Amino acid sequence: MSSDFTPSQKDAAQPESRAAGSELIRFDNVTKRFGDNVVLDDLEFSVSAGKHVTLIGPSGSGKTTILRLLMTLLTPDEGTITVDGDYLTHEERGGKLVPAGEKHVREVRKKIGMVFQQFNLFPNMKVLRNITEAPVHVLGLSKDEAEQRARELLELVGLTEHIDKYPLQLSGGQQQRVAIARALAMRPQVLLLDEVTSALDPELVAGVLDVLRDIAHSTDITMLCVTHEMGFARDISDDVLMFNEGKVIESGPPEKMFNDPEHERTREFLSAIL
Ligand code: ADP
Repeated sequence: MSSDFTPSQKDAAQPESRAAGSELIRFDNVTKRFGDNVVLDDLEFSVSAGKHVTLIGPSGSGKTTILRLLMTLLTPDEGTITVDGDYLTHEERGGKLVPAGEKHVREVRKKIGMVFQQFNLFPNMKVLRNITEAPVHVLGLSKDEAEQRARELLELVGLTEHIDKYPLQLSGGQQQRVAIARALAMRPQVLLLDEVTSALDPELVAGVLDVLRDIAHSTDITMLCVTHEMGFARDISDDVLMFNEGKVIESGPPEKMFNDPEHERTREFLSAIL
C-alpha cells in the first residue's frame, strides 16, 4: 500500500467494499461482429473484485471493443455480460432474459468508470464542474458534497491549483488526470482505462501512470486496462490477458506472461514491443 494518500483522499477514491474475490465482471460466450468481421469470438473471461487486469495483444484484436461493450457504447451480438452480479445488457423478466431497458442499463453503468485515450472532458466547463457534474446529476449528491469529493480527488491527482481552469488551459497530462478524477468521483466499482497515455507527449506519460499506480496500490478499485506501457502493466497487474483475433489465447500473472509466455503468438507480440 502506498502511504501517499491521506485517509480522506483514499476514501474519495474508494468504491463501496466488495467481498474480496467475488466476481465483478463476467463475459459469457460474447460474440461481437462488425459486418463479416468477427471482432470477439465466443469470449469468456471474468475479473474478481479488487483485481487489476491488463489486456494486451496486437492492434485490432478486440481489446477496446471489450471496454466499449462494458460502457454500453456497443452491444454484444451473442452472449451476456455481468457486472457485480447484474446483467449489463439484459434483465430478467418473468423468468426470461430480455434486452435491458434504459433504466436498468443506467443503474448497472453507475458501477463502471472509464478514462479514454482522448480525455473527453467537457470543454465548456471548468475543471471543478467537469468532476461534479455527474455526481450531482446522476448520483444526486448535493453541490457541496460533490465539490468536497472533487477537491479531495484533485489533490490526489495533484491538480488543486488548476480547479478554476478550463480543460484547454491544461496540458494533455493534466487533462488526463482531471479525467481520472472525474471517473473516480462516481465511486465506480471498476475503472476502465483505454490506452490513457497514448495521446500524450512522452514527457507527460509518467505523471499520469504514477497517479494510476497510486490508485491501484492504495484503493480497492477493480481495474481493466488496455495499454502498451508494459512497465506499468507489470507493476499494477494481478493478471494479464493476451488477445489474438478476438480470443484470449493466454493469461497469467505478469511475471509469467512477460518472462516466460507459453504461446508463440504472445512471444512474438512481446518481442516486437518490449
Ligand atoms: P484493439 O483495441 O485490440 O486494437 P478494437 O477492439 O479497437 O481492437 O478493434 C477490433 C476490430 O474491430 C478491428 O478490426 C476494428 O477495425 C473493428 N472495429 C472496431 N470498432 C468498429 C466499428 N465501430 N465499426 C466497424 N469496425 C470496428
